[in-house]
Amino acid sequence: MGNFSINISKRFAHSSKNGRGYCVICSSYGDLSFDHVPPQGSVIITKTEQRLITESTVDTFHKVKGLMSKNGSKFRTICKSCNGLLSLGDNEIARIYQSLTPVIRQYFESPFELYSLKKIRIDTKKYTRSMIGHILSATSEEECKAESIEAPYFSPLQRFVLGDDNAIADTHDIYYWFYPFRRHISAKMVGFYNNGHLCTMSLLSFFPIAFLVVEKNKGIYPAHAKRLEITDEFLFLDLSLSNHAYITFPFVELTGNRMYAVKDELCIVSYPVGQ
Ligand SMILES: [Zn+2]
Repeated sequence: MGNFSINISKRFAHSSKNGRGYCVICSSYGDLSFDHVPPQGSVIITKTEQRLITESTVDTFHKVKGLMSKNGSKFRTICKSCNGLLSLGDNEIARIYQSLTPVIRQYFESPFELYSLKKIRIDTKKYTRSMIGHILSATSEEECKAESIEAPYFSPLQRFVLGDDNAIADTHDIYYWFYPFRRHISAKMVGFYNNGHLCTMSLLSFFPIAFLVVEKNKGIYPAHAKRLEITDEFLFLDLSLSNHAYITFPFVELTGNRMYAVKDELCIVSYPVGQ
């Protein structure tokens, strides 16, 4: 008898069928284009498998077959014009990845490399605009069926991506930290409950940086995270893995009166396969 207990990832149901719909960034209706998340240039594009985070736990991983792509993790959720807009910042994401990779290799391979804190120049506006754009695009293609409505969490992010530099100044904080894993995580919306406080957040993690967007002044972020201000000229990345248990999703200890809730089709993990 064959093994009939393998399920197909829910990503199949949430991936694009006809390629038309509302852009999840500018809300225009028309042909949708594929957005690579992580963007091209910041990872080596290979055969990739996608699945939901809820299908990637120790208990669920081997029971679910993921969605395969020959050329990277893709989402057909944005219009051509928004895709072009994100590609401007993708150059900056790629430059940072290419500059940091040899520095990180040197740190882990050389016994004489003592300083774990690395500093690199960044064009924060370009970088942040593109990272937030990819957070918005890495979602269920079902979202493209309806025009987006004004929402306190997502609308400022959309306006920021479309060019308003001040759109998120009063609504969102951004944090980042060193992320040393091969698997990529995009979680567009996570509700985090901490001792009576509920906070909405979004996470986009791919080597070598985890990028977290949270509601302003809610104070929920990992202890090792650094806050990114739009005026920053440098990134500071601590390569020491002293907080190793809390680097990946959900990145904080879920003890006591803490929990998180996800809309699972919005929280996706992808990873290179067959290498
Ligand atoms: Zn658009």
